[in-house]
Amino acid sequence: MPLPPVKPKSPSPANFDLFAGLKAPSKPVDLPSVDDLYRMFSIYNRQYFDNRLPAVKICYTRRMTAAGGYYPAKREIRISTRYHHHFPDEVYDTLKHEMIHIINFKHDAAFKRMARRIGASVRANDHPALRKPPRYVYICPHCFTEYPRVKRLRMASCGKCSGKKYDERFKLVLKRSFKKPVTP
Ligand SMILES: [Zn+2]
Ligand SMILES: [Zn+2]
Repeated sequence: MPLPPVKPKSPSPANFDLFAGLKAPSKPVDLPSVDDLYRMFSIYNRQYFDNRLPAVKICYTRRMTAAGGYYPAKREIRISTRYHHHFPDEVYDTLKHEMIHIINFKHDAAFKRMARRIGASVRANDHPALRKPPRYVYICPHCFTEYPRVKRLRMASCGKCSGKKYDERFKLVLKRSFKKPVTP
């Protein structure tokens, strides 16, 4: 079976990324600087945690589909740039959420009480469209159209080049595969 080409929402092959299913932000997004994140960390720490939170490292990462994560072994809060390019207004909400994780690793009742009290999201934010990032990217050897897929493909040829039937000449080849996405 030839695969239909990826629908118009998919970007051109050159700028394919894991967020292909989401509309790109209409204009470039300015996220707060890392300094701003540290500044807000200390403000929230004073305001909501009686300065009880230990200092942690805060950084941005491009590798996460969830909004953020706290990594206790490294004492590090990571904020996803990929996520927040789509939801820039949620950066500080994510920061607050991850700050609670410094003292409470689970999303249990105590966590939820705390989250409500300080106005942080109760759930770890991830956009439904981001939950299953494609792990495989196939490419047509002829026209180079890329086909991101969650699952492995066996016999699939390019929909643009093949016509209605599977065509060996345009069999899609695996271009790259991703390891399982890391969930915080
Ligand atoms: Zn969480
Ligand atoms: Zn093709």
